[in-house]
Amino acid sequence: MDRKTDDEQIQRHLSYLRLALSFATKSPPKPTNYCVGAVLVDTVRNEILSTGYTLELEGNTHAEQCCLTKLANKQGLQEEEVGKVIPEGAVLYTTMEPCWVRLSGNLPCVQRILRTKLGEHAGIRTVVCGVREPEKFVNENHGRKLLNDAGIAVLYVSGLESDILAVATAGHEKE
Ligand code: ZN
Repeated sequence: MDRKTDDEQIQRHLSYLRLALSFATKSPPKPTNYCVGAVLVDTVRNEILSTGYTLELEGNTHAEQCCLTKLANKQGLQEEEVGKVIPEGAVLYTTMEPCWVRLSGNLPCVQRILRTKLGEHAGIRTVVCGVREPEKFVNENHGRKLLNDAGIAVLYVSGLESDILAVATAGHEKE
């Protein structure tokens, strides 16, 4: 693989985040959540493995959750087994950092990412986010620490914040 300069790397991250943002715009705006988009990329083959956005699948579903569930379903697996089909070097791009607690009681996306490490399968080792989660519905997001503690790199790439937040909060009342 070519050695990438930092700038090329950042441009690559930004192009995948823009793609994730294009999926976020498909999410139906609601006052109670953020419209987020996610893309799972095999960075070795430069191939998009799956995509997702908030409320894409039935139920109160999040973007990362939809992304992982769709990949699992394609392979005839349950989401909790999706780690089996995630190749080494897979990077999860998400417009907003993954949730670590859910008021609905559903499994937070951070836990869904952590459980992709399954047996000998390394799972997702890198998460790239466009913005931090605003502290509107839950307090400070401690997901980054949970992921870092498990050896997963969490990168925040700046440059798309205002577009990402405009899409994410489309259904919220303006203050
Ligand atoms: Zn989530």
